[in-house]
Amino acid sequence: MTDGYPLYGAIEVRGARENNLRDVSLDIPKRALTVVTGVSGSGKSSLVFDTIAAESQRLINETYSAFVQNFLPHYGRPDVDSVENLSAAIVVDQTRMGANARSTVGTATDASSLLRILYSRAGKPRVWPATALSFNDPAGMCPECEGLGRKSEWDVDALLDKDKSLDEDPIRFPGHGKESWPWTVIADSGFFDRSKKLRDYTEEEWRQLLYGEEVKLRYGKMNLTYQGLLVRMSKSFFAKDLAELRPHIRRAVERTTVSGPCPACGGSRLNPPARECRIDGVSIADCAAMQVDELLRFVRGLEVRSLQRVLDALAALLGDLVHIGLGYLSLDRASSTLSGGESQRVRMVRHLGSSLTDITYVFDEPTVGLHAHDVQRLDELLLRLRDKGNTVLVVEHEPGVVAIADHVIDMGPGAGTHGGEVVYAGAVDGLRRSGTLTGRHLDRVHETNPAPRAATGAMRIEHARLHNLQDVTVDVPTGVLTVVSGVAGSGKSSLFLGVLPKQHSDVVVVDQRLTRGSSRSNTATWTGMLHTIRTSFAKVNGVKPALFSANSEGACPECKGLGLAYTDLAFLDTAVSVCEACEGRRFTEEVLGYRLRGKNISEVLALTVDEAREFLSEKPLQRMLGALADVGLPYITLGQPLSTLSGGERQRLKLAVQMTGDSAVYVLDEPTTGLHMDDVDRLVGLLHRLVDGGRTVVVIEHDLDVIARADWVIDLGPGAGHDGGRIVFEGTPADLLRADTLTARHLRARVG
Ligand code: ADP
Ligand code: ADP
Ligand code: ZN
Ligand code: ZN
Repeated sequence: MTDGYPLYGAIEVRGARENNLRDVSLDIPKRALTVVTGVSGSGKSSLVFDTIAAESQRLINETYSAFVQNFLPHYGRPDVDSVENLSAAIVVDQTRMGANARSTVGTATDASSLLRILYSRAGKPRVWPATALSFNDPAGMCPECEGLGRKSEWDVDALLDKDKSLDEDPIRFPGHGKESWPWTVIADSGFFDRSKKLRDYTEEEWRQLLYGEEVKLRYGKMNLTYQGLLVRMSKSFFAKDLAELRPHIRRAVERTTVSGPCPACGGSRLNPPARECRIDGVSIADCAAMQVDELLRFVRGLEVRSLQRVLDALAALLGDLVHIGLGYLSLDRASSTLSGGESQRVRMVRHLGSSLTDITYVFDEPTVGLHAHDVQRLDELLLRLRDKGNTVLVVEHEPGVVAIADHVIDMGPGAGTHGGEVVYAGAVDGLRRSGTLTGRHLDRVHETNPAPRAATGAMRIEHARLHNLQDVTVDVPTGVLTVVSGVAGSGKSSLFLGVLPKQHSDVVVVDQRLTRGSSRSNTATWTGMLHTIRTSFAKVNGVKPALFSANSEGACPECKGLGLAYTDLAFLDTAVSVCEACEGRRFTEEVLGYRLRGKNISEVLALTVDEAREFLSEKPLQRMLGALADVGLPYITLGQPLSTLSGGERQRLKLAVQMTGDSAVYVLDEPTTGLHMDDVDRLVGLLHRLVDGGRTVVVIEHDLDVIARADWVIDLGPGAGHDGGRIVFEGTPADLLRADTLTARHLRARVG
């Protein structure tokens, strides 16, 4: 880029007004790396995702035939006068890869197909055809688990009370109680003595009860089909994705089944011929089970002259995974178990290998989950993507990434209605001199906590061995703010999200995940504020409160009061659009006629937290609204669907709800996600106030400013995967400065 004017032209945005954007016009240089920064809620996503990426997606959809378009969500035109010079945009964000049990790191990166080509040509004994090595194809999949690698079995002792007879209601599963239809079919089948305790059943009776084959029987006047209990329950509950079951059924299934690696294939998902095919004694399943960094060494050591190009492509892809800090993963790792940051980086690697050029790549905080040590390597990958001739747009706060940008767009000055403007656009040097919040924070020097608190006691974690943890025993101090650090994959989540809550029941984990069902709730319903709001509306208007709730006859029947319509697409993520029935107003005309201090329910739900603090004086609301402002969410609206919040915002929303409760120990997973350096200051202040209030707070965090300001640091490492899983440092931040760990090294560089 020549100074001031981009060499390859620019994406020209004119008059953008999505959400809080104030008629924003700007140019984004093409084939350059642009970082968009600014405090949380300033309008970064509204510009990058809701305007630029959305317009690109809409234009692409318009190129499909009318027939195909019928199946695509109807994207409204973003509120913008024009976007010129746009190329196809690919959004690589932190959406987790969903619950698809057939997706693994290998399939998501395409490494699996390269391995299959390699084994189908060079493996011995030869298998035929090439799909015979794929666990997603009937030719290669283990017939026992159908390529899933895991098998669930009913735990008969948990499901049936053997000390009871059929007449005594022995089936411990919802919908299977005495007189229920499934119970009647068994009890009236004539196969069993209804008063005989199950414990006394003969082997044949057990077989008939659990696995009996289909028989048509006459029950009174009806013909019904008898079938063994487990056979029928497996059809009803295992054939479906667990996540699709209603919550109480899902819990019951979890309680009454045991799930483990498939005994037939040992979890490798493949059938015997596929498992037998080997190169240098190593099978394709062995490859998938290795850590990516080990697999890379194996692939580099192979010499098959006719397959050099496949080997090179595979080595390049695996090298990228290692480079981006994911060398500790294995290709057989299920995508559904990856964190949001890991998922984003896995997808990023796939694009690095693509030979498409002139794409606009849009990333959402790609440093999430990355230690300062890994950030440098991520930087190189972003630049490589740019150098292949792509336009790279990154929403990011990490000072290291901002520093390498060709172009910086700083949004602000504040959040919500106080933001929505471009406060700086240009090179990084100019940003430093600009005097904006970001500019001022960029080179700020930090100091370590000068007066760390003393612990009031300790929670001991004993002999932790989950995943890569190497028999870790550690004391977690109570009554202080502890930060857990270490490179990605070192074992922080395994220890503090996996083991700690299992060993100590009083621990509350505040994470970024939405619990099922909550994706269709909004701020007001999820925090419980709607209850109070609806009571106030009812009192003032002399009607019943239920009219104002989402499941009542008062709500728009189409969107159930959400104002949004959800379209489930087979292969893509769920698409969200404004409900056409009520045009986003959520309620029926009648309900919209009722007012509270001059505003109708739709208008009240449109208030931001900050505005609501002025407008809604009700006590319980004031407490909740205060907490929301404290966690840095003054700009979200009361009716904002949780599905539109980022992972970081969701975590802070959960924190706000938890703060008003009386739990003693909180564990947070990277609470700075989505936060600007200025927001981080406030968050750390809040965490310290929680500790002042008698709580114990543990945060898993990479942000060096947060580490510096902790009372106590627990550092895991020394590396990731096999090379991690140990405590390499425990002590105060000041002591960490003198230690010899990766975290210590980066902290020294940051602290003045
Ligand atoms: P950032 O990405 O900088 O954190 P956003 O662009 O997400 O900021 O948000 C800017 C403003 O727009 C905020 O006030 C936010 O609450 C609002 N906003 C964003 N998305 C929506 C939405 N889907 N519905 C209503 N308001 C929204
Ligand atoms: P961190 O939180 O420090 O990034 P993790 O605890 O997520 O580290 O990972 C530590 C190790 O455990 C890594 O080797 C990772 O691949 C492995 N691991 C984490 N979660 C799972 C899982 N659900 N299944 C299998 N391995 C896992
Ligand atoms: Zn199997
Ligand atoms: Zn509606």
